Amino acid sequence: MSELRRDPITNRWVVIAAERGKRPQVLEEDPPAKGDAVCPFCPGSEDETTPEVFAIGPPEREPNGPDWGVRVIPNRYPIFQEHSEGLRRGYGLFDQINGVGIHEVVVESPHHEASLADLPVAEIQHILQAYRHRLLVHRNNPNLRYVLIFRNYKKQAGASMVHPHSQIIGTPITPLLVKAKLDNCHKYYLDKERCLLCDLIWQEINWPQRIVSASEQYIILCPFASCFPFEVWLCPRVHCHDFALLSDQNLLEVAIALKEMLMRIKLTLNDPPYNFILNTAPVVRPRPGRPEYWQTLQYDFHWYIELIPRLTTIAGFEWGSNFYVNPVSPEQAAERLKQVSL
Ligand SMILES: [Zn+2]
Ligand SMILES: [Zn+2]
Repeated sequence: MSELRRDPITNRWVVIAAERGKRPQVLEEDPPAKGDAVCPFCPGSEDETTPEVFAIGPPEREPNGPDWGVRVIPNRYPIFQEHSEGLRRGYGLFDQINGVGIHEVVVESPHHEASLADLPVAEIQHILQAYRHRLLVHRNNPNLRYVLIFRNYKKQAGASMVHPHSQIIGTPITPLLVKAKLDNCHKYYLDKERCLLCDLIWQEINWPQRIVSASEQYIILCPFASCFPFEVWLCPRVHCHDFALLSDQNLLEVAIALKEMLMRIKLTLNDPPYNFILNTAPVVRPRPGRPEYWQTLQYDFHWYIELIPRLTTIAGFEWGSNFYVNPVSPEQAAERLKQVSL
């Protein structure tokens, strides 16, 4: 089992996960040798994976059989895994927590060569339904504080498999970056009694130089302080703190907007590697000694998706300062992304 350790100087948690070194790699850059390695995510290889925990397919389908559209399986090489005790320990300066949590893979399509941007919106909606299902299941797990859903696309963005997939990781502590976002939204709300993201969306729409596109329900924008070239956010215009509360109709609308965002990135930047991250409400559970902790969450937080094309390298200055040097202004990036004809 992995272990979280806190660096006493930065307060940052690090996961020591020696098992992860044993992962297989099935990437387009490294085609498997004939006969000995096939893609375990392809239909027909269902018994090569861990048993599925969720799937979308016809009602008569047997679990772990073929004929699925989306399949969710526990990761065979998990960063965190289920365990009865989330033991917290401390030795002087050093804090440690067992790597208790969950790590799942969402196999997004039965087609090995499929590209998320090119999938029909109904199939993207199915992937989002899988995300919603897993968020709803995992919030009942007493060991979890946050459930992070993300997608690594291509090797340069951290993918070890070419077959289209995203990942779900439930963590035993709220990640420092997530906590900073939640805290900033909470403080803003306490000061103004308004949602920070709602205000940000209103301001961007009224000064639209960073808006890539806007529909009645969603906007796609390049954020004011983008860390990376062509960073884009997909934000719902109607306030909602929790992605898991969306209806099927809402998810169809997200799928339409997400497909548009992915297509614009793909066509503008020649199908770059990227990471996308779903920012949504944490697992809400009263904390001993902190009864006020999540009380205004439904008013102060606002879910959104961020996508970061991996076009630049993080180097010494970024590591040393946590400043990011972005050679493309978000205003230029929005202009380029807007020009794509879909
Ligand atoms: Zn495959
Ligand atoms: Zn809002």
